Amino acid sequence: MNEERKLRRQDKPPRPGPDVEVIRVEKGPGVAVQIVSRAIWGVWTHWDGRRSRECTSEGPLCQGHQNNWPTRWKGYLYVWCPYRKQFCFLECTPNMAQEIIRLQGDNDSLRGLLLRANRYGGSIRAKVSVELVKPAGGDGALPEPLDPEPVLRKL
Ligand SMILES: [Zn+2]
Repeated sequence: MNEERKLRRQDKPPRPGPDVEVIRVEKGPGVAVQIVSRAIWGVWTHWDGRRSRECTSEGPLCQGHQNNWPTRWKGYLYVWCPYRKQFCFLECTPNMAQEIIRLQGDNDSLRGLLLRANRYGGSIRAKVSVELVKPAGGDGALPEPLDPEPVLRKL
């Protein structure tokens, strides 16, 4: 049998992915989305060297704290992504989230605003530029925002 045509076998089923995609602002074309959430939902995580892990407390109950894995804050917004033609979660770095909150100013909600973000550089601390624009058409057609927690637990 031709070795190149061997079937790709795996009896252990793959872990199901999240039902809702999580997008990030990568270096390059950036993102342009409409915000569905009213506010940023933030959470602390640990980085184990390969992937993000949940932080469950600052005490001995948290595996990440026990292992001294570095902590990272992540913010999430439920958004409509016209490019993907789907609703998804946009992950925000701390400096991106601070910029969104600064631009939000006295507005009590982010819901309906158009957000454009671009990242200048590949590092986690790279500056992300953010623009918030009020759409001309209003936000009447937006659904209720989703809770990110069940989705993030599947990541
Ligand atoms: Zn922890």
